[in-house]
Amino acid sequence: MRKKEMEERRERRIIMFPLPLTGHLNPMIELAGIFHHRGFSVTILHTSFNSPDPSRHPRFTFRTIHHNKEGEEQDPLSQQEVRAMDLFALIRVMKQSYAEPFQVGVPRVVLRTTSVASVCAFAAFPLLREKGYLPIQDYTLDDPVIELPPLKVKDLPVIETKDPEELYRIMKDMVEGAKSSSGVIWNTFEDLERLQLIDLSRNFQVPFFPIGPFHKYSEDLPSTKNNKEDYAITDWLDKQEPKSVVYASFGSLAAIEEKEFLEIAWGLRNSEQPFLWVVRPGLVRGVEWLPCGFMENIGQKGKIVKWANQLEVLAHPSLGAFWTHCGWNSTLESICEGIPMICTPCFTDQRVSARYIVRCMASWDNVGTK
Ligand code: UDP
Repeated sequence: MRKKEMEERRERRIIMFPLPLTGHLNPMIELAGIFHHRGFSVTILHTSFNSPDPSRHPRFTFRTIHHNKEGEEQDPLSQQEVRAMDLFALIRVMKQSYAEPFQVGVPRVVLRTTSVASVCAFAAFPLLREKGYLPIQDYTLDDPVIELPPLKVKDLPVIETKDPEELYRIMKDMVEGAKSSSGVIWNTFEDLERLQLIDLSRNFQVPFFPIGPFHKYSEDLPSTKNNKEDYAITDWLDKQEPKSVVYASFGSLAAIEEKEFLEIAWGLRNSEQPFLWVVRPGLVRGVEWLPCGFMENIGQKGKIVKWANQLEVLAHPSLGAFWTHCGWNSTLESICEGIPMICTPCFTDQRVSARYIVRCMASWDNVGTK
């Protein structure tokens, strides 16, 4: 791009406002890097909850957006239920307390951080209710969803809730919000989701921009190696055989029961492969404990950490498999490095991704799902 054209563009500013969750913040920061590289100025609005670190992205302007409830001293995002990562509570608070400044006439483009396939399923909720697939009944779990192949009923992207109507409302708003925008940017690419893109764009009738995977095009990656633990992980990976390590990580939000936690622990140990396991605070509902002597028994064969620089881990030559919850970012990151996945989806779009991963990569020997 010519210098003059670049300078003219710098005067044009893109304002971005991500949902304050890692799986949304990461791709939005990567996308900001792509915009900046193309010459735009970027401002990232964020809440004081889960705020990004501006010092790591000096090329962007960061602004904290304040909640708009007059007379309310406390940040509504600090409430217990939101902190406990009740997604419904988070979305409720975001809508009630942060929406006002956006009700202006600025052109709005939507970034969808999940797969197109999962949004096809979200958009089909009214039809799925009409046909009796939703709410899900236990005895139908293995039935195919004829209207959304290859999905089975158990793959539908629902979240367990006492109030399914609220879930349907949120999904409807999400779909309507995208349909009334100036366009939708997807963190995906045509060779991966061509049919789903064709299908959904007929229904949405706004321009689609499938310009992912963002992390491969962006100079602004959310995590760079910056602490002792990251270096210790690389040192440990360097000592392992090529393609031998099972990396187990279930993203930034998923919570599992104690029983599942122990099953994973024994599964990793009994695999007799070296493993790197991310056990972040909050992963286990209840008490996070490993059987007495578990770690001693494993010795150098296994490493448990609270967080890892996933992009670096997946790119390491010692990586052999990724045991994942199938969050969309993790899925894309794994595909990009050619790492086979073992799928344990927890909720929402992860179930859709798991089904597609298994179907698309069925020819790979080491892919499986529950
Ligand atoms: N991630 C990471 N280290 C970890 C776990 C996750 O860097 O130990 C990053 C991962 O690379 C991905 C994001 O956090 O970019 C998680 O997003 P994803 O959509 O996979 O799952 P979510 O957290 O939204 O469930």
